[in-house]
Amino acid sequence: MKTSTRCVHLETNGDPYGAVSPPIYQTSTFRQENASQFGEYDYTRTANPTRALLEQKLAALEDGGYACAFASGMAAITALTRTLEIGDHIIAGNDLYGGTVRLLDQVLSRSGIYVSYVDTTDPEEVRSNLNGRTRLVLIETPSNPLLRITDIKALADIAHSVGAILAVDNSMLSPCFQQPLALGADVVIHSATKFLCGHSDVTGGALITSNAELDRQLRFQQNAEGAGLAPFDSWLLLRGIKTLVVRAERQNASARTFAQFLLEQPAVKQVYFPGLSDHIDHQLHRRQATGDGAVISFTTGDPRFSQRIVSSTRLFSIAVSFGSVNSVISLPCAMSHASIPDSLKDRLAPPPDLIRLSIGIEDVEDLLADLDQAFAFASGKAWTESVSNGRALEKFV
Ligand SMILES: *Cc1c(COP(=O)(O)O)cnc(C)c1O
Repeated sequence: MKTSTRCVHLETNGDPYGAVSPPIYQTSTFRQENASQFGEYDYTRTANPTRALLEQKLAALEDGGYACAFASGMAAITALTRTLEIGDHIIAGNDLYGGTVRLLDQVLSRSGIYVSYVDTTDPEEVRSNLNGRTRLVLIETPSNPLLRITDIKALADIAHSVGAILAVDNSMLSPCFQQPLALGADVVIHSATKFLCGHSDVTGGALITSNAELDRQLRFQQNAEGAGLAPFDSWLLLRGIKTLVVRAERQNASARTFAQFLLEQPAVKQVYFPGLSDHIDHQLHRRQATGDGAVISFTTGDPRFSQRIVSSTRLFSIAVSFGSVNSVISLPCAMSHASIPDSLKDRLAPPPDLIRLSIGIEDVEDLLADLDQAFAFASGKAWTESVSNGRALEKFV
């Protein structure tokens, strides 16, 4: 079956009433037949039928055998790192989500696990950072917010050469456009909060793998630490996923239109979008992914001008996150990536004039007109330092 069919099709055959939308098993505990034999479910922290249905769906979408759903993307990444031991080594990309860097740098370091931040777009640099204790290579491709591309297959081979696993954070593209397990990755990470949910109403995360032993460890962790996704949130995700392909394709098409528009703007210095033929990693991206996603970043050369643009849009909300039906605009340096610890900011923080867009499903002409007026307003006399369309600017200036 194709992805769009898998998104809609649900195995709800066991339902006694033939419900097409699955029930929400909003229960913490399950009655047992007797005290010595437990049924399929006993306690929701351990497993819940609504979450299990979601996990089945996530595994199918990524073409993996197993999936575990967590309360957030960070909870999922945390569970993955729990498979490591004191003294182990991680190689991580140098353009990662800020919260991931914070976890690696400020939480994992306490467990004696150390991390090298490497330009993973260069496989040889990854190879030269391997050591006998490297257990995990963790990448995002496209990375965020600079949209650099890492060769998944090459990195899988490099990681496997020392017995490490490759984890690919696939939040930016979703299984609609990229399936890392098929390219050799051992585990796929999702912030399901993004594309999979698509409606900005759930935080969730997932780990998907075809490795039964790894899944066993992750499932143990999910139960032991109690960060599994709640039944209602699992249901919302099941609902959101039904429209994943239509949303993602629409957003992808609009994002391509946007990238072209930005290229033509005199005020724009550089556009970062892997779908552009002059993007540095365009060919590699085309080989391993079928779409470009909804995120575009661009610089203006002037951080204050960038702040004014962000504050001048009307349809684009100023917000972190991406992949939802609603368009958002942000300054990663001050927002999503502000959580990068100060000690790493020089190396890992995005440029201060970088603006990130996530294109939603609104009419693309309306969105283009909004950005157009924001450019005009931000560079024109109408601008005053204190007020833009009623929005206070203290947040940025
Ligand atoms: C948002 C995000 C995360 C964290 O996910 P949450 O659901 O916010 O915890 C991890 N990785 C990437 C690439 C993200 O964009």
